[in-house]
Amino acid sequence: MARFIFITGGVVSSLGKGLASAALGALLQARGYSVRLRKLDPYLNVDPGTMSPFEHGEVFVTDDGAETDLDLGHYERFTGVPARKTDSISSGRIYTNVLEKERRGDYLGKTIQVIPHVTNEIKDFISIGEDEVDFMLCEIGGTVGDIEGLPFFEAIRQFAQDKPRGECIFMHLTLLPYIKASGELKTKPTQHSVKELRSIGLAPDILVCRSEGPIPVKEREKLALFCNVRADSVIAAQDLKSIYEAPLAYHREGLDQAVLDAFGIAPAPKPNLERWEDVADRIYNPEGEVKVAIVGKYTQLEDAYKSIAEALTHGGMSNRVKVSIEWVDAELFDKEDAAPYLQGYHAILVPGGFGERGTEGKIKAAQYARENKVPYLGICLGMQMAVIEAARNVAGIAEAGSEEFDHEAGKKRFEPVVYHLKEWVQGNMTVERKVGDDKGGTMRLGAYDATLAEGSRVADVYGSTHIEERHRHRYEVDTKYREQLEKCGLSFSGMSPDGRLPEIVEWKDHPWFIGVQFHPELKSKPFAPHPLFDDFVRAAKEASRLV
Ligand code: GLN
Repeated sequence: MARFIFITGGVVSSLGKGLASAALGALLQARGYSVRLRKLDPYLNVDPGTMSPFEHGEVFVTDDGAETDLDLGHYERFTGVPARKTDSISSGRIYTNVLEKERRGDYLGKTIQVIPHVTNEIKDFISIGEDEVDFMLCEIGGTVGDIEGLPFFEAIRQFAQDKPRGECIFMHLTLLPYIKASGELKTKPTQHSVKELRSIGLAPDILVCRSEGPIPVKEREKLALFCNVRADSVIAAQDLKSIYEAPLAYHREGLDQAVLDAFGIAPAPKPNLERWEDVADRIYNPEGEVKVAIVGKYTQLEDAYKSIAEALTHGGMSNRVKVSIEWVDAELFDKEDAAPYLQGYHAILVPGGFGERGTEGKIKAAQYARENKVPYLGICLGMQMAVIEAARNVAGIAEAGSEEFDHEAGKKRFEPVVYHLKEWVQGNMTVERKVGDDKGGTMRLGAYDATLAEGSRVADVYGSTHIEERHRHRYEVDTKYREQLEKCGLSFSGMSPDGRLPEIVEWKDHPWFIGVQFHPELKSKPFAPHPLFDDFVRAAKEASRLV
């Protein structure tokens, strides 16, 4: 049976709770334990799939097709454990489940209440698969004191109470602000935050305190005394130059030791941190630098393309270069020449996205990359834009476009080279969709196989002709145009196993131009960079030598 670690936050949001959880998971693995990480989000959306990336950052997709919080991306990147549908839940999902049960009559006429019905639903979720791993880490989204969070805090309190003593611990993340004028680190917000936790029956075993600098002994002792934790369980989380140093930094601070102590595990198995030492060495000692432009729409919020930025960093690590990413707003050159905005980059990446805004700029970016032989990676919408560019400017289909934009505008303007996907095969089932369907959870989601053409660049990059990658899209390149586009040199080098859905396109006479309908960034890890990102950065490095 798993031991449980519950991770909560206080004082302010965005303290890096997800990162701390992921790093702790990695440290427990380094000591030989198996782990699973889970996120419990108090918001009322059923899942983040329908939220704007401006609001919530990237939507992370699992192999089994769940649209989840971006923290699950951190969990996967640090532990390599593929997340599942059952690793992410929100109040919206919990209440949906409870209300469906109520409608079915499962509660046998009882009055349905937050305690026990909602809390039981949360507890059931937490315990899924508890016999599979040594440690289950459950992060509660938001901060203590949030109204929506209360049922979750109550549920973990009950959960720990139901378990034998010593099987659950609580880790609380807070902020220690530094007041310049007095030159002091302030512990009061943390004291208040812990007081708030204790008022709902939760006592933290470990305090992780975000601070700009080290925490002096005096403040540590004060925190320990006032918050009722051991002094060696007050862990400083200092700002780091790279998130990939977090496992080493937390280890230096004694986090994993404090956690094992809190469970009474002694002697603790020794950690093997070689993987993270190598990762830190690669990130802090690059031998060169490449500049990559990400031409997108959600460029004000970097979290919107979190996994892509991380996957590029991983590609840089395997090539021993620093990848400096610049965010270029595609809308800037919707109507203008793209060249002044794109000159000087060693590679161009057009990421996924939804809606028409900025797409003319993305098409121009693909054209610029094709004509100037700049390495190009198009992901999902970025592949669709590359195909539309080829259709318009090479195959002569002047009206080529995506049905997505016609549907959005409510009128027909384009020849649908990219069309609305009505049915596809998943396992041994056919999935069907209509244009007016609900928006939530209805895309082609999760892992699907693809077959790569022998001798293609992608087969070479992957070192295989069979791959499995994660998808999240409603529209698809129409195979009707395949022959015409292939004659022009755009090869459909990856297809769904039944040959009906284009998965990858590549320009034959180009140093590196690949568009993929799936999201390779979701599977990249710092210790195992995704082959496409590895090779894309290699191509950028080569381009940088030519400049
Ligand atoms: N909007 C496009 C579609 O639904 C692309 C989606 C994406 O880039 N994730 O097909």
